[in-house]
Amino acid sequence: MVPYDLDLERVVELVNARGAKRVLIQAPDGLKQYVKDLCENLNERGAMAIVSGDPCFGGCDLAYSEASFIGADLLVHIGHQEFQHGGDKIPTIYIPAGHKADLEKLAVMTADLLKKKGVKRVGLVTTVQHRDYLKIFGKALAESGIEQRIDEESGGIILGCRLSAAKRIEGDVDAFVFLGGGDFHGLGVALAVEKDVYVADPYRDEVRDLAKLKKKVLAKRWWGIMEATKAKSFGIIMVTKTGQFAEEPALQLKRDLEGHGKRAYLIAMDEVNWERMAPFTFVEAFIITGCPRISLDNQESFGKPVLNEEDAEELLKRV
Ligand code: SF4
Repeated sequence: MVPYDLDLERVVELVNARGAKRVLIQAPDGLKQYVKDLCENLNERGAMAIVSGDPCFGGCDLAYSEASFIGADLLVHIGHQEFQHGGDKIPTIYIPAGHKADLEKLAVMTADLLKKKGVKRVGLVTTVQHRDYLKIFGKALAESGIEQRIDEESGGIILGCRLSAAKRIEGDVDAFVFLGGGDFHGLGVALAVEKDVYVADPYRDEVRDLAKLKKKVLAKRWWGIMEATKAKSFGIIMVTKTGQFAEEPALQLKRDLEGHGKRAYLIAMDEVNWERMAPFTFVEAFIITGCPRISLDNQESFGKPVLNEEDAEELLKRV
């Protein structure tokens, strides 16, 4: 059984309604294995399904160039919510791919741990894939005498770079629980708020505290900022993904660094990783404009200081 709701009927309906003949399907690597039925279904209905084999990290990363190159008249983007509203270059359907799982045991486990930690009021946040399970967690928490808060404006949904669902309710809670897999989103919350953050992970069936990880990431972050103050030449990376390209901030950074007597070079890059940065041997430190998480989440792999825009603000106060 496919453990995600790929909303096959809705996709087929929308493809039919738009009369799409060539459909590019884009999904994160973890979900690519589940697109088989969708492809077969579309093909049977006379629409050619083509799956993008490239990585896909978020709703900020729409495969418009690929879609336009292959002549697709529709993009089906699986696993993320819409990042920028309106203005799609190619009509795009977003399929959140809700996770199908039984999370009652995890909800009780989470409530038990929070009770032991003395938490009285907890903020719940999640991603679009797990939003339907917040109710189950709310019930388990209430049964343990713990009050829950969910940001009304967002329904408790966060992205790795959009954390206002947590920030808006921070003053009203003792701790946060992020419901979802991996540490990426929970760490984003932990870095954005001053409260304890726990990850209730449905894939590992465990609840974990992110305090140690937060401490480690912050220590590395400050090491990077301080090391970068010694650099004389900077590479400013302009990420070319649809939702990440930030020309003005990059140009402003260049002006600011040059104003402090540094040299700054603009580098355009689609997928940012150390392998792509390493050839710029004349650069002593990098600043990534666009996704703020690339520098934070890949620190171990970098051979030089790599900062995000917020880190660069700290750097500029110190040079
Ligand atoms: S955290 Fe980065 S990859 Fe995720 S949505 Fe934000 S910009 Fe995109």
